Amino acid sequence: MANQAVLTPQGEDFPQWYQDVVARAELAENGPVRGTMVVRPWGWAIWELMQADMDRRIKATGVQNAYFPLFIPMSFLEKEKEHVEGFKPELAVVTYAGGEKLAEPVVVRPTSETVINHLFAKWIQSHRDLPLLINQWANVVRWELRPRILLRTTEFLWQEGHTAHATYEEAQAETLQMLEVYRAFMEDTLGVAVVVGEKSERERFAGADRTYTCEGLMRDGKALQMGTSHNLGHNFARSFDIQYLDAEGQRRYVATTSWGSSTRMLGAVIMAHGDDHGLRLPPSIAPHQVVLVPLAEGEVGQAAEKIAAELVADGVRTHVDSRFHLSFGRRSVDWELRGVPVRIELGPRELERGQATLVRRDTRKKSPVPIDGVTSAARDLLDELQRNLHADSLAFRTDHTYTVTDLEEFRRRIDGGGFFRMAWCGKDECEGVLTEGTGASIRAITADEPPAPTCIVDGAPAVHDILVAKAY
Ligand SMILES: [Zn+2]
Repeated sequence: MANQAVLTPQGEDFPQWYQDVVARAELAENGPVRGTMVVRPWGWAIWELMQADMDRRIKATGVQNAYFPLFIPMSFLEKEKEHVEGFKPELAVVTYAGGEKLAEPVVVRPTSETVINHLFAKWIQSHRDLPLLINQWANVVRWELRPRILLRTTEFLWQEGHTAHATYEEAQAETLQMLEVYRAFMEDTLGVAVVVGEKSERERFAGADRTYTCEGLMRDGKALQMGTSHNLGHNFARSFDIQYLDAEGQRRYVATTSWGSSTRMLGAVIMAHGDDHGLRLPPSIAPHQVVLVPLAEGEVGQAAEKIAAELVADGVRTHVDSRFHLSFGRRSVDWELRGVPVRIELGPRELERGQATLVRRDTRKKSPVPIDGVTSAARDLLDELQRNLHADSLAFRTDHTYTVTDLEEFRRRIDGGGFFRMAWCGKDECEGVLTEGTGASIRAITADEPPAPTCIVDGAPAVHDILVAKAY
């Protein structure tokens, strides 16, 4: 089995390992325009499963899906000053179309607050129209100067939720509710342990009052922002004149939120779970949860088909690999690379003994099981794998979270990766000292008590517990 040379080891060159996995597991590749990506069938099947699960969770909170246009008038973006300033460097603008210069430039949506709030102003008249809870699944374009496949691409796919509420407090509650939806999805479905918290002012979404985040820790010790939820307060309501009549007949501005999660989560799954043998997929998002690899055609192949039929009847996503023109070893390695959680290997001698070999992708352990019990053993293993990948991710994060009280110690150790927990006074100048020259940023202000009484930078009284890390 010529497996070992397939991937660059993580410990040798993590970015190269990542590129290798994306290519060899046939997840995605670069499109002809720099920064664009092609999602290949295996990657797309994973994304569809993620999308379905996320969609179900979002709808369970009462949100409805809708669709808004890809093109937005430039003047809409200019209505919210901070918003347009934040997005301007990344905008793709159409100035020429249909054979002529356009009277007004049109922006390819980088996010849809402006166009959706424009419609909210039409749709909302009375307090009875509130709350208005909308989500859209779409592609967005943010021109990337340093693209990285699945993590930072010029065009990516996502869901963006947009809601309007009667009061600021209700918008805040919605913002936190969606943060919790994201957290539960990341942990329970993706198996990635995340830290939730608020962003500092300089990391906040352009136009938001408050931004909250889910931050995962990748296996190279870098953080990845996996989903964000914003309380936009009355900022967009004022810019787009979204007012309603309250129960007393008073005109009031609504308060709005927005929240998004994207194809970047595919990158998170690769980097949070992958090992030197490839991807490790949590069963919840594995296109094939179980793959049967029969050694040969004929009796063995038929036995594999029979086991597969039982698994399918039990609702397990199952595939039989009957590419007999490829060697048995080659086929097994291929599924390992693609991260399939459980393999069942079948050979003629085993079949004679009434046995099959169960291989789990997380630990790569092989165990012989009686054919009679193989379907229930595989099902049990799927549950265990789902839990185990999360436990692995949590243990990794715990082992790579360091509490520091000394600025020099932080500076010395930051290049080694991990989350650095410290006390902060909340001043922007102190944040600047933490970020300048370190390449790190405040990833989240958590709800915990500061780990020391004074700010790590200037010794002022600490008010926040923060996690600082280098990030994608
Ligand atoms: Zn300070």
